[in-house]
Amino acid sequence: METIIDIKCPKCGKVLRLYNQPGIERLFVPCPVCGTRSPFSACERIVKRHTDNVTELPSALRSDKVSLVDCATGEVYELPLGCNSVGRAHVTSSANVQISTTDRGMSRVHSSIDVIKTSSGNIRCVISNANNKNATFVNGEKLEEGDEIVLHDGDIVKMSVSELKVKF
Ligand SMILES: [Zn+2]
Repeated sequence: METIIDIKCPKCGKVLRLYNQPGIERLFVPCPVCGTRSPFSACERIVKRHTDNVTELPSALRSDKVSLVDCATGEVYELPLGCNSVGRAHVTSSANVQISTTDRGMSRVHSSIDVIKTSSGNIRCVISNANNKNATFVNGEKLEEGDEIVLHDGDIVKMSVSELKVKF
């Protein structure tokens, strides 16, 4: 298995160099030159190795998936595209993303997270407090009523005493 692959950005034609990695055919390639993310499968492979004018990409590509990782248990909760309500798992909860926790301070619908795919193929993830009186924090900052905060890889979302790490 080749360790380094050169491909062409389908949008701007820039030669991008990346490391081969498991599941690469399902990943999206972020082009730092034109800013688009293209499915690896849509990128032309360049067999003849270029030695100059190549843009090297970070060693690990991000997937098209956003998830929340419970910092206490390591449990992963995937956030599908669209409007997600997030809260404590309970038979009466209407949240579509239910966190298994004994943390009674976490509401059954605690916050809402919208995952949007932009026209350029980027994933945008926006959190708000879902009109909940129980606070949600992002990296220690409290969400006020009406706040919409863009989440990034590695951000910590805190609901009650539970901390969830955003993973792109
Ligand atoms: Zn490009």
